[in-house]
Amino acid sequence: MILNVKNLHHSYGDIEALNNLKFSIDNNSIVSVLGPSGCGKTTLIRVIAGLEEIQKGEIFLDNSLVANNKFNTPPEKRPISYVFQDFALFPHMTVLENISFAAGSQQNKKQLINQVIKLAKVEDFLKKYPHSLSGGEQQRVALARSIAVQPKLLLLDEPFSDLDSNLKREIIDDTLHLINSLESSAILVTHNAEEAMFLSDIIIVMEKGAIIQIGSPKDIYFNPSNLYVASLFGETNIFETKIINNQCWTPLGYVKSNNLPDDKLVNVVVRPEAIKLNIEKSPLLSSNSGVVVDSKFLGNNTIVHMTVNDDQNSKYHIHSKVTGNFLPPPASSLSITLDQSQIFIFPR
Ligand code: ATP
Repeated sequence: MILNVKNLHHSYGDIEALNNLKFSIDNNSIVSVLGPSGCGKTTLIRVIAGLEEIQKGEIFLDNSLVANNKFNTPPEKRPISYVFQDFALFPHMTVLENISFAAGSQQNKKQLINQVIKLAKVEDFLKKYPHSLSGGEQQRVALARSIAVQPKLLLLDEPFSDLDSNLKREIIDDTLHLINSLESSAILVTHNAEEAMFLSDIIIVMEKGAIIQIGSPKDIYFNPSNLYVASLFGETNIFETKIINNQCWTPLGYVKSNNLPDDKLVNVVVRPEAIKLNIEKSPLLSSNSGVVVDSKFLGNNTIVHMTVNDDQNSKYHIHSKVTGNFLPPPASSLSITLDQSQIFIFPR
């Protein structure tokens, strides 16, 4: 395994930034660290890189201990390289000089540099200085420089966050191919779940300094461990309700519970994708029916805004996500069926 983190704690004065983190990363894998602002993602990367001195715990890189409370291997002695949000290119060096400097005195230096230039697609601006490059170009140079080191582990701290969405997609795609073509592993820090799913084999979800779930993108999507994880993949419909006879009521109909005791107060998360709709000729009176407020066409899919009444005549505004060619007009009556695999129940 390329990285093994054991019982890692880190505090800034009274602020506990990392609370007992334990995880490992296999060779040739891409792992995303996903979580809200302030949950400790950058601190984790900085401690792994050696830029922040370890306080408690152990870090093994490529099966060698590099840091514990007694010693801290300096960053340049670790088999890693990193790209931060601000790229940190050397301003007085051209693109080629930046890459060449990173390649140091490695064997086959010239061949390596040429390969890196091609992989990162920076051929067109080799003689330029960083200040004259666009954000996307600087991004590519930062990536080129970080792989020229031939690291065993590449650390990417929100490197795509300043790019516009088309460019971002292109660079993320290229980055994925680039990492796959190297014999290295990568850790990507992000607060964008889609980015994490696209790029990584494993996602580590953090909240308030702790790891709350580790799994493949599919595990995290279909078996979220709490309300926060379930809400990471776009908006959700959330109902506060309680368990009665192994099921719980929602305005969309009853949902089976997963062995929670009677009277337990719960949040039920219903993804818009879980709500399947059918247009009905006349209004239905059952709880699993609704009336369209508006349908928003988004290309591949449509978000249907609808009102659902419960048996006390309370109204709920619900969002359903359906395929783009289903566009029910306002005021249409709908019957609802639920896909239980996209519904999650969490104790309150
Ligand atoms: P973001 O997504 O906003 O970059 P993050 O998940 O990377 O956030 P960190 O930057 O690791 O979070 O910060 C974790 C916690 O530690 C936060 O509460 C932050 O305010 C605090 N913190 C980080 N660096 C320092 C520092 N140098 N001194 C004091 N507190 C810090």
